[in-house]
Amino acid sequence: MIVRTAHKKYTNGELELFSQLETHISEIRDQSPEQWERIALSSKAVKAYSGTDMKEETISAFGAKVSKTSQPELSASPCPKLLLTCNYNAAVTFDSDNLYIKAIRPIQKGDQIFISYIDATNPVKLRRSELRERYYFDCHCAKCAKDLTEPEHSFLGPETQDDLSALEGAEIEAYELLNECSSAVETDPKKTAKRLRSSIKFLRKVGAWPVTEQPLVSLRDELIASLLADQDIGSGFVQAAVRYLRVDPVVYGDERHPVRQLHAYALARVAVSLDCGEDGDSTGLLGLVDVRMEPVLLAWSVLSRLVELEDEACTVPSFKTMVRWLFDDVNERFKGDKKKPEDRGDDIRREWEKIELLVDRALEKGY
Ligand SMILES: [Zn+2]
Repeated sequence: MIVRTAHKKYTNGELELFSQLETHISEIRDQSPEQWERIALSSKAVKAYSGTDMKEETISAFGAKVSKTSQPELSASPCPKLLLTCNYNAAVTFDSDNLYIKAIRPIQKGDQIFISYIDATNPVKLRRSELRERYYFDCHCAKCAKDLTEPEHSFLGPETQDDLSALEGAEIEAYELLNECSSAVETDPKKTAKRLRSSIKFLRKVGAWPVTEQPLVSLRDELIASLLADQDIGSGFVQAAVRYLRVDPVVYGDERHPVRQLHAYALARVAVSLDCGEDGDSTGLLGLVDVRMEPVLLAWSVLSRLVELEDEACTVPSFKTMVRWLFDDVNERFKGDKKKPEDRGDDIRREWEKIELLVDRALEKGY
């Protein structure tokens, strides 16, 4: 942004808007020496690189605004000012050089646009500490206000409240494991999947933790990633189906939500890979002898729904292209068949019944 400013790439109006953003420079200097050192050092580098006349302190103040908003272009753009909250009505996504702000629910003219930089599905304590540490920001949204009035773990029901300490221990361990997963350190996916599975099992066993409550939601996301990285396509498929059928409809109520759309695409992709099983028999990969499946028909069903929702979905153009490519590929596999997939409604319904069965079995096993 400094380089663009030095080259006069912004209009005065855009710069004026950016200058109106609160800077957190003194808070950062006083409360977070490490972050301050990082900003000061990069200001030095930015000054040297850009050759700007701007003073280092001014560049640091830019940096402090960036620390607060992460993407200052958001606020410096001519669009209405965006506010951070956990109770967001729009999603922000970068797609190559473009930034997209998509409404995830109807926004009336003149309404404030709210976006979230954190995982809003996390519990209120975690959300607030993350916002404080990363963005120097105390959230006062309706979701936080509501969540703060409810006792922690209220979703567990009265019967599990007696053994809360064991449960809290398991919860802390789960978040530590998630931290490990998100760090850049290379891990063995097989071992990670095993640890994630036992963490999920433990939380569900000790506390009958609902699959739609964190940290279970994120543990399952990581489990799917680890299973697929370990080439365990069958188990990855079942877990992606659990997420698609049991988790996402509750966690992301709207079918057009970008995360829900991405997870649907992931399920379709895994179903397509199942179909490419070497012996052409996907039942072996699923570890099933009593359920014969046609996963590519299921992939067709998921993708056709994604294509149907294309215009309304809160996704970016490159995602829509990816969906189209996969849909074309899947349609190609039905070429020459007597009956087109769109005329196989009963078969598709039966495929979903089988998936329901697989999902129930996985959940009965505790993960
Ligand atoms: Zn909030």
